[in-house]
Amino acid sequence: MTDSAQELAQKYHVDLYDRYPLTLTEGNGVYVKDSEGNDYLDALAGIAVKSLGHAHPGVVKAIREQAGHLTHISNNYYNEPQSQLTKKLAEISGLDKSFFCNSGSEAVERAIKLARKYGKVHNKKGKIIAMGNCFHGRTLGTIAMGKRKYREPFEPVPGGFSKVPFNDLEALEAQTTDETIAVIVETIQGEGGIYPARKEYIQKVCSLCDQHNILLICDEIQCGMARTGRWFCYQHYGITPDIVTSAKALANGFPIGAIMVKDKVADVAEYGEHGSTFGGNPLACAAALATIAAMQREDIPRQSDRKGSYFMDRLYEVAKKQDAIKGVRGKGLMIGVELHSDAEPVVNEMIKRGVLTSCTSGKVMRFVPPLIITREQIDTLVDVFIASLKAV
Ligand code: PMP
Repeated sequence: MTDSAQELAQKYHVDLYDRYPLTLTEGNGVYVKDSEGNDYLDALAGIAVKSLGHAHPGVVKAIREQAGHLTHISNNYYNEPQSQLTKKLAEISGLDKSFFCNSGSEAVERAIKLARKYGKVHNKKGKIIAMGNCFHGRTLGTIAMGKRKYREPFEPVPGGFSKVPFNDLEALEAQTTDETIAVIVETIQGEGGIYPARKEYIQKVCSLCDQHNILLICDEIQCGMARTGRWFCYQHYGITPDIVTSAKALANGFPIGAIMVKDKVADVAEYGEHGSTFGGNPLACAAALATIAAMQREDIPRQSDRKGSYFMDRLYEVAKKQDAIKGVRGKGLMIGVELHSDAEPVVNEMIKRGVLTSCTSGKVMRFVPPLIITREQIDTLVDVFIASLKAV
């Protein structure tokens, strides 16, 4: 008899996660199974990662095939999947070039470094403005922009960042000086509680940046890759940022991060000033290519747009009848339902009833299901949500 995953983790894993007592062993489509054989509808999708669902045949096939050919080489050489992926990302993002790493935080770190280098070349100080309530990761550079509770235990953190309230143009204008080199924004704040940027706001931020040779960085790690009904969320706003970060759903669960940049940004990068052992490795890039190909074949951006509208309409109806709900917001299949009280008990109740979700910022239920979810499955999810709200 071997020790269970839960016993082993409690004994040997550095205790950082507040986990539910569930060990998940298998996934298929929108469902996952636990070690006791129970099925769950996975409405969290590994936190906006498994957009094509679990064990997607096209992605599994690509990973298997690539694993049999070449899993890793040094970035001293070219590899076919990496080069193909740069072309594909240029096609879907409208930006020119990309660079690969292994996670979201790492992509944001790269964006910060590149923006600072752009500043050096253009004789500007490297001040970066971030938004209040933002989340960009857990590395030192990213927590320097983030909430105090994530930053304070780990100070000192890198400097040169300031913050302005999200969706407030006047505050941003007042903060902008000739030392500002970049503004970083999540087009929809994810961890902060699912807050979309206002359209007019993002458009004005974009022109403000253009006017003053400031780089606009859109962090699309959570809201990108078809989650909101377009390949990238900024495409709803009719803008093209200078730098875009991506990760999470990019390879449907295979770890990879990327930044996409305009040529003017790529041009300041010089040989040897940044690099990564694993970043852009052929296996991860093959998984990303297969993910994008399947999304194109299955018309996933449009699916998430339509299903997202259906889901939101259902939730607006629920909100009318349920006093516990304060508001519903989001875009596509990135949806937050704010409650008047702590959302954690509702999440626990939903898990008991066979639906995996999570909450963010305490009172917000976060729904980021696989984009392949059907209307019937959305109905089940909504029914379980209503029943759980009533039960708690
Ligand atoms: N940026 C955003 C907008 C995110 O939502 C996250 C992850 N929640 C990150 C960055 C960090 O990504 P990772 O956990 O892959 O480092």
